[in-house]
Amino acid sequence: MEMYETLGKVGEGSYGTVMKCKHKDTGQIVAIKIFYEKPEKSVNKIATREIKFLKQFRHENLVNLIEVFKQKRKIHLVFEFIDHTILDELQHYCHGLESKRLRKYLFQIIRAVDYLHNNNIIHRDIKPENILVSQSGITKLCDFGFARTLAGPGDIYTDYVATRWYRAPELVLKDTSYGKPVDIWALGCMIIEMATGNPHLPSSSDLDLLHRIVLKVGNLTPHLQSIFAKSPIFDGVILPQVQHPQNARKKYPKLNGLLADMVHACLQIDPAERISSHDLLHHEYFTRDGFVEKFLPELRAKLLQEAKLNSFMKTKDIPKENELMREERKTNFNNTMINNSHFGKETEKEKKSKDIRIRVFKIKGGKGDTSELKKLEYESVHRQQDAIDNAHATCLDTKPVIIEPPNSVNPSTNANGMKEDSYAGGCMIMPPINLTNNLMAANSNLNIPYSNPRLGERAKKKQTTGQVISNNRQEDTGPTQGGDDLCEERNLKRN
Ligand code: ADP
Repeated sequence: MEMYETLGKVGEGSYGTVMKCKHKDTGQIVAIKIFYEKPEKSVNKIATREIKFLKQFRHENLVNLIEVFKQKRKIHLVFEFIDHTILDELQHYCHGLESKRLRKYLFQIIRAVDYLHNNNIIHRDIKPENILVSQSGITKLCDFGFARTLAGPGDIYTDYVATRWYRAPELVLKDTSYGKPVDIWALGCMIIEMATGNPHLPSSSDLDLLHRIVLKVGNLTPHLQSIFAKSPIFDGVILPQVQHPQNARKKYPKLNGLLADMVHACLQIDPAERISSHDLLHHEYFTRDGFVEKFLPELRAKLLQEAKLNSFMKTKDIPKENELMREERKTNFNNTMINNSHFGKETEKEKKSKDIRIRVFKIKGGKGDTSELKKLEYESVHRQQDAIDNAHATCLDTKPVIIEPPNSVNPSTNANGMKEDSYAGGCMIMPPINLTNNLMAANSNLNIPYSNPRLGERAKKKQTTGQVISNNRQEDTGPTQGGDDLCEERNLKRN
């Protein structure tokens, strides 16, 4: 941490604090997630999981982990700094995002989810505060603390509490055999929120959430109904039976027709009926009027532009436009555009440098607790190439061998020299969002037409950097009001 100057706090979660920092030698701006020390067991588990995933899975729509270290017993994750989150935008655009911007963001978000699902990973905490947005409009999924490899037949998932508002019914009812469809449900909820500015299923308890699901989405399937009936938590409770319109556009009249179709396909009560990430990417919402063909070159140009400022993304690895179109068509938009071998094999040198760039080391003076990190270092070196080359790498849960970590490396050798505010614009089509101006203004209620449900909560946490913090995974947050009035409610807490 001595290598970094702290600029301010940008986020706070259940397991740690995210600080905006500047590398003292290079001036590179980074986000450092500092995990709390306690409760040690769960913090270590969450941190270890996040490191594991981020080291193995690299994609331009996933946040980039630069390095990991431990100081004063606290695990520190150093990320590329990304300008703001979707939640920040929703606080400013109270009625939801403008349709062109929305489509570009959704395409990238679904690309990231599709990449994870193709690698048998479920994220399990998709929500607006976990989607980072760069100044040029590139979205990056973050927070892999709950991500995990899909269980095999008969395996069960345990100890996991995702953010309630985005939880699928099978999760609320603790069905132990859930899978990728939980991310699709969360996407459906988030799409509505991004399009309208209002969370779809804000809720203060599991029962409240189930009730809202039944009222707004659909009746429980017989299987879920039987879990509900047997659950001691819901003993004596009877959920209403509701007649819902069959037609997606009638059900979601506030959404554009194709978006309503897409949301309807995501928000199916039966997980087996939910659309896949692959089919979402090929949905007419994206394929109509040549959007994909137009947007991919634009995205590539933005990535190139950002890569110029960021040496851990190599511009020479970015495929040419025609290659990109060909690859995207061939692989159903699954592959990364920058960072992997789909666009040409890496040389041995490049592989090595990747291993060095992502490293784990212990700061002198810290005590104990390095075994997990040592294990991860070992795993990284031996698995990273496989994971990157193999689109179906799934070997995350095998027992690692413990070896000594490589010698500590001077942190400055890892920095890429990216300067704050050095982004020049160039090929931007989407107007950049000036958070410092816009959101500061929003937080002090200067420029907004009416208040946003989340604003009160977030405004309380405004920090000196001009960014605000939230991401509170609090379990029970007191009563909430009905959906349509939400924009008027200032102090609704996100859980
Ligand atoms: P937690 O797991 O503790 O909830 P997250 O990874 O979700 O932490 O990050 C919390 C918040 O910190 C995010 O909602 C975002 O506002 C901010 N944040 C996280 N990563 C970055 C980053 N790379 N760049 C800028 N801000 C970030």
